[in-house]
Amino acid sequence: MRQVIAGNWKMNGKFSDIAAYAAGLSAAPMPVTLVVCPPFPLLAGFAAALKGSEAALGAQDCHANASGAHTGDVSASLLAEAGASYVILGHSERRADHGETNADVAAKVEAALAAGLIPIVCCGETEAERDAGEAEHVVRSQLTHSLPPGFAGLVAYEPIWAIGTGRTPSEADVAAIHAAIRAVLVAQFPASGAATPILYGGSVKPGNAAGLLALPEVGGALVGGASLNIADFLAIAASAPAAPAPAIAASALAS
Ligand code: PEP
Repeated sequence: MRQVIAGNWKMNGKFSDIAAYAAGLSAAPMPVTLVVCPPFPLLAGFAAALKGSEAALGAQDCHANASGAHTGDVSASLLAEAGASYVILGHSERRADHGETNADVAAKVEAALAAGLIPIVCCGETEAERDAGEAEHVVRSQLTHSLPPGFAGLVAYEPIWAIGTGRTPSEADVAAIHAAIRAVLVAQFPASGAATPILYGGSVKPGNAAGLLALPEVGGALVGGASLNIADFLAIAASAPAAPAPAIAASALAS
């Protein structure tokens, strides 16, 4: 399976950034699936600029309801209509800034799936939780309660203390927590959990991406700050291991 490299622009970017960034995303074939997640107002412009490109578009949140009196919120179906195919849900900044709970995230995941969007569900511990030896427990609990029955999408492990700080966990720590996440996914979703991509996020840069993306159970990256610069984002994507070649059918070998 190709790795997924998703760029989370957060509350950054302008209409005038779209053309050059979309051209960069479309320029070179990549061994990964590239996803750019700009602020809501830029989605439709990006969708137009990415027509014919293999790169995909994502949003940074959606509401749990299909429509209604929710000032300032956006429905999943409108995101899909604007051209998004992915949506980031449960990012730690939304959990902190907007008090989103695991139950809120699970409801949003259901709404995203109903609208045909692919959710990227975030989880991750605070520094205090890691120092207390509780990182795996916290992440397990977040996922158990944030992923509804029938979940189909991606998970992003993003230690909160690594977001925007330039610090990352050791590669051994990333591998250990991704293995724990895999175990949760397999237990919770026996039919699909083994294949759910698990992205790493938190200060991924061109200089550390190759090591992180080569770790077992790392299926790509969710990139914040470094995704704002197209050259850095593409350098991260280029350092992902290529997807394994498809297996050759026995019948083809026999002929
Ligand atoms: C993020 O917020 O999703 C993120 C990974 O940010 P950064 O890469 O800037 O740490």
